[in-house]
Amino acid sequence: MNVNAVLNNLEEKHPGEKEYLQAVREVLDSVENIYNENPQFESAKIVERVVEPDRILTFKVSWVDDKGDVHVNLGYRVQYNNAIGPYKGGLRFHPSVNLSILKFLGFEQVFKNSLTTLPMGGGKGGSDFDAKGKSDAEVMRFCQAFMLELWRLIGPETDVPAGDIGVGGREIGFLYGMYKKLARENTGVLTGKGINWGGSLIRPEATGFGNVYFAAEMLKTRGDSFEGKRVAISGFGNVSWGAALKATELGGKVVTISGPDGYILDEEGISGKKIDYMLELRASNNDIVSPYAEEFPNAKFFPNKKPWEIKVDIALPCATQNELNGDDAKALVENNCICVSEGANMPSTPEAVETFLENKLLFGPGKAANAGGVSTSGLEMSQNSQKLSWTRNEVDAKLHQIMKDIHEACVKYGTSDDGFIDYVKGANIAGFLKIANSMLDQGVV
Ligand code: GLU
Repeated sequence: MNVNAVLNNLEEKHPGEKEYLQAVREVLDSVENIYNENPQFESAKIVERVVEPDRILTFKVSWVDDKGDVHVNLGYRVQYNNAIGPYKGGLRFHPSVNLSILKFLGFEQVFKNSLTTLPMGGGKGGSDFDAKGKSDAEVMRFCQAFMLELWRLIGPETDVPAGDIGVGGREIGFLYGMYKKLARENTGVLTGKGINWGGSLIRPEATGFGNVYFAAEMLKTRGDSFEGKRVAISGFGNVSWGAALKATELGGKVVTISGPDGYILDEEGISGKKIDYMLELRASNNDIVSPYAEEFPNAKFFPNKKPWEIKVDIALPCATQNELNGDDAKALVENNCICVSEGANMPSTPEAVETFLENKLLFGPGKAANAGGVSTSGLEMSQNSQKLSWTRNEVDAKLHQIMKDIHEACVKYGTSDDGFIDYVKGANIAGFLKIANSMLDQGVV
């Protein structure tokens, strides 16, 4: 395989899909050597087969708002790869959603899910629907209209969607209600369900918890820990919330959160009731973080800025793709940041990743470091199959073990001769080998 040749070909076929091409390049760069050392991969055209989704389903979603006006949104499900198990991955509802973003997310999901040690393939879906300013009734009608199209394409053994940006407990509830009505069965067809109707304990906080568990494992390789560390978090949604809780529990001091409007610096530490407030703020259906500084006047709000300019030991980007660029990475390095663990999907640009690796930071890429969310979704699927609910401790212990196993896989494939662990390379190779070998086992399908 020649990475540039494969990418040129993809670029010709899918012009302008920049997030998708960025995600593919990163993986192919990492696996190029091991791929070329194993001619059986090339003869089965594994790369050509893995970079394209199995299928992309697009549909129209028409719905009526509270005033009686009709709206039309686009809906998608990208079923990427099911060599390891049913397609699995979230739904994103955000006005920025397009095919390039969903293909990048689906591609990442394939490798992430492979790392979880659980039998899950990869997929992603969503819509350009914007929940901001919409009433609960409007969100419900949209979700119902979305499921009216989606339900025929999914199933507990076929494709199991979940949440992502803009899709939380409320949306999963509305989606599940409609699925159940149409399919006339209660099955584990979605994850992130409510605790009373098949959901798993720990699922809401799992991505953030997993991210901090992964960062703690990375720190351990240098004899270090969260104890006494200053931590910058971006975002203020579910991932950031879980990360703030766990980082605080492990002795860290979280000093920032952020929104699309800017960031909050709270030198007293974002803990206790301030972490609860993050969820209230999110639930108020307003995409802005600035009200935090009104609620807690010792905190400062910096409009239209990102938290990476603050001096911290650990950075946890938990907002969205490409939110941390090369200059942000340089600022973190200059401020002696030692560890960056990605809670979001691909939040660091390629320039930022290069800066972290050149400066030998502990850098956990999203597909490893944020795999705790989908792992706990996998545990929710196991509980649904067993028709049992595990205790909080049981789920948390399993999640913690999975994050340790993912870390170990990265160390196995990412450690270079000088002892430096390149977690990007490690995660990509470990994820890829399992998928490629499964595809070889199953023939050309
Ligand atoms: N959207 C989350 C992710 O990016 C979770 C997916 C899931 O639970 O299926 O991994």
